[in-house]
Amino acid sequence: MKRYSAFAIAKEALRDHTGWDRAWRRATPKKRYDVVIVGAGGHGLATAYYLGKNFGITNVAVLEKGWLGGGNTGRNTTIIRSNYLQDPSAAIYEKSRSLYETMSQDLNYNVMFSPRGVMMLAQTEHEVRGFKRTAHANALQGVVTEFISPARVKQLVPIMNIDGPRYPVLGALWQARAGTARHDAVAWGYARACSDMGMDIIQKCEVTGVQSDGGRVTGVSTTQGNIACDKLGMVVAGHSGALADMAGFRLPIESVALQALVSEPIKPCMDVVVMANTVHGYLSQSDKGEMVIGGGTDGFNSYTQRGSFHHIEETVRALIETFPMISRLKMLRQWGGIVDITGDRSPILSKTPLGGCFINCGWGTGGFKAIPGSGWAMAELMARGRSPLTDAFGLNRFREGRFVDESVAAGVAH
Ligand SMILES: Cc1cc2nc3c(=O)[nH]c(=O)nc-3n(C[C@H](O)[C@H](O)[C@H](O)COP(=O)(O)OP(=O)(O)OC[C@H]3O[C@@H](n4cnc5c(N)ncnc54)[C@H](O)[C@@H]3O)c2cc1C
Repeated sequence: MKRYSAFAIAKEALRDHTGWDRAWRRATPKKRYDVVIVGAGGHGLATAYYLGKNFGITNVAVLEKGWLGGGNTGRNTTIIRSNYLQDPSAAIYEKSRSLYETMSQDLNYNVMFSPRGVMMLAQTEHEVRGFKRTAHANALQGVVTEFISPARVKQLVPIMNIDGPRYPVLGALWQARAGTARHDAVAWGYARACSDMGMDIIQKCEVTGVQSDGGRVTGVSTTQGNIACDKLGMVVAGHSGALADMAGFRLPIESVALQALVSEPIKPCMDVVVMANTVHGYLSQSDKGEMVIGGGTDGFNSYTQRGSFHHIEETVRALIETFPMISRLKMLRQWGGIVDITGDRSPILSKTPLGGCFINCGWGTGGFKAIPGSGWAMAELMARGRSPLTDAFGLNRFREGRFVDESVAAGVAH
């Protein structure tokens, strides 16, 4: 793989950019791989990458029914933070956040990680108590967060109205090294690095069945033929239930639409990310100047990748009290993704009832931030059969009642 650098750009500029390679090879499936990963979203690609980088397993195929990064990875609002309440969550999300800090250098691909700070507004007394509790928990977990006053909120985000009649701002949980990254670049960077290690990334290759023998996975049927494998990783977010069905087990999971929208581009006016959980909306400004707005999930299950109109109306209406300037903005685009939500709002990284078959799902509305940490942990789970980062997130927790309850920390889309 040709390294990207200032020198390479200068050299290519002198010869009309004719010397760049494809970022990743176009591959056709082989008959057999050591590991097959289903789903070329961020989590699937990161899993493949760390299988190669950390464990030297490179006879790997990543199968994608559509185009790489075209699922939730390319549809999210890119908020990255790690200030969760429970210890196992803080551990995996903080691992992930710290990997984001060096991802561009690690992948030699600019993922535009911007640690601009994320604040979660407390707009009820209940939230003040909850966020103070989370700040204390984070202090014990070694995650750097603080509870800040309304005056400090106003100082960080001058365009905010902190004295709203319904929901005044009473403070915020602030993580200064949280932020955003460019979602497509995360998928593309991992894909390029995987391809460079000799892995096959096969797009337009839908998995339609899972083959097994004596309780162990032996391969998958796809729209490009049968592919044998020793180990199978299912990393398909909103379609996890369908994949599990093919492998003969059920998941405690629901698939629902979550949507986001962006405004017309405007001059820089806000250089942090704001989440307002009570009014159910969140806001950041993209490098292009668009205000990126996310809301809540639809109240019913679906696979439509669209989301209903009343949710957009509700989200924007709710945010206007805190950000009155939004009322004068034109909205440019809206889109949706299908997120996979568990009862305790925590992910599933687990072995499954089918031998050799592993599942990574349940990141719901908040899995973009987890991509590198999840890939790191899932690779370890698949290579060694166990990872300390995934111990608490097994499927058995639903049978044993050991929930990792993050419904307060993850109750809003982010
Ligand atoms: C509107 C919106 C806003 C969000 N905002 C944030 C945010 O700000 N911060 C945050 O942390 N998270 C956010 N999220 C959540 C985040 O996007 C997801 O948790 C994360 O991207 C999941 O990544 P993934 O790789 O597991 O899934 P995906 O990116 O969805 O990848 C799964 C892939 O599997 C493929 N697939 C499915 N079935 C098959 C099959 N049978 N065969 C082959 N391939 C298959 C799909 O085509 C897809 O490409 C948001 C999500 C949405 C929808």
